[in-house]
Amino acid sequence: MSTQRRALVVGLGIAGMASAIGLRQAGWQVTVIERAAQRRLGGYFIGLFGTGLSAARRLGVMDAVHMRTPKSTKTWAVTRAGDRSRTNGFLDQPGEPQGVLRGDVEAALFEHLGDVEVRYATVPTSIVDVDGGALVTTRHAATGDERCEKFDLVVGADGVRSTVRRLVFGPHERYVKPLHAMICAFQLESQVPYFPAEHGLVLAEPRRSLWVFPFEDCPPTALFSYRTRDIDAQFQGPVREVLRRTYGPEPLGEILGHVLEQFDRAEHWLFDSVSQVHMPSWRSGRTVLVGDAAWCMTLYSGMGASVGLAGGSLLGRLVARHGEDLETALRTWEARLMPFARQHQRAALFKSQVFTPSGPVMHFLLKGLNRLGAKRSKDNEPTALEQWFVRPMNVDFAD
Ligand SMILES: Cc1cc2nc3c(=O)[nH]c(=O)nc-3n(C[C@H](O)[C@H](O)[C@H](O)COP(=O)(O)OP(=O)(O)OC[C@H]3O[C@@H](n4cnc5c(N)ncnc54)[C@H](O)[C@@H]3O)c2cc1C
Repeated sequence: MSTQRRALVVGLGIAGMASAIGLRQAGWQVTVIERAAQRRLGGYFIGLFGTGLSAARRLGVMDAVHMRTPKSTKTWAVTRAGDRSRTNGFLDQPGEPQGVLRGDVEAALFEHLGDVEVRYATVPTSIVDVDGGALVTTRHAATGDERCEKFDLVVGADGVRSTVRRLVFGPHERYVKPLHAMICAFQLESQVPYFPAEHGLVLAEPRRSLWVFPFEDCPPTALFSYRTRDIDAQFQGPVREVLRRTYGPEPLGEILGHVLEQFDRAEHWLFDSVSQVHMPSWRSGRTVLVGDAAWCMTLYSGMGASVGLAGGSLLGRLVARHGEDLETALRTWEARLMPFARQHQRAALFKSQVFTPSGPVMHFLLKGLNRLGAKRSKDNEPTALEQWFVRPMNVDFAD
């Protein structure tokens, strides 16, 4: 009889695939189930920091990640009236973050799944701890077929609205904290007129902003980010109307007009509310949560993908190191990651102001700060304050 231990990973995103590869490296037999009928592609701009890059190296996928950082880039603070001034962009942060599409990271991970079995259109419906394992019932979306299997470990990597979390830990409302903000991200067909393709743009106003993130070899992605107390109302009616209402009634101007016009023709986008996930523990019996399901920090932190990679990679290494003692492996894993995740969740609240100022005073202060920051060119040595600020983004979870 085989003594190889079996893991079920729920979710074929960055955290799920990183966990699958990590556990496979530890010698486990891994099955991934994914709700969607097929693997998703493309996505939006992601900045990968040192934490994510070193995890990608450990997972053996680094060379396969298509990096798209523009060789020479500038970012412009712009207004609806068409004024522009130099500012610091996302990739100007010290620590040399790399610009990628989310799909670039997912494609690299997928390529390295090896003998991991992937079952699409499949969701968990029940997870129960039994003697020496977890009994999981899954259902196929198309056929309705149910299957019940025993696993040594269940990894819930099914995102911010995690089903695994609901089944094992309790209702979403207990853990999901809304930030009263909405985002809409999509890939432009072409750059905003009069700006080179490798340049970024930031149009920030009180409570609403537009960011254009450039790449080296594909059109930029745009991100609308705005604050609202009425999240439900944002999901009523077509997104294009919601965005035009939110960014009106003032005349749009050329830049907003161009991006909204391209949105009207876009086939794929992500439109969602922004929430963090706060939990006292990410593990219960034979189940552990990883990635946004466990610690969603939001896009404002700029660290979700990086920590998803690090979390999956560290899980595999600790499970390998502690052998039969799964309880110690999971406890050590959580103790290593939780302070880090909490730190970035707090930082995200501050950074959300940089993305989208919460009011006129913040908007005014940030404009001043940006002017000061823009004086430093990317080639200058980062200041001590900048180094202190980005250090947590480059932590290497070696073991
Ligand atoms: C606009 C935007 C910009 C961002 N920018 C950055 C950045 O610059 N840097 C950074 O590090 N991070 C960034 N992030 C965050 C980062 O994208 C996420 O943290 C990361 O992708 C989350 O990965 P995940 O695998 O935890 O979850 P997800 O990507 O949500 O994946 C979950 C997977 O589980 C599947 N699933 C869901 N429910 C079920 C179910 N019941 N059964 C089976 N499968 C299920 C889903 O279909 C999906 O495939 C950004 C996010 C956004 C939205």
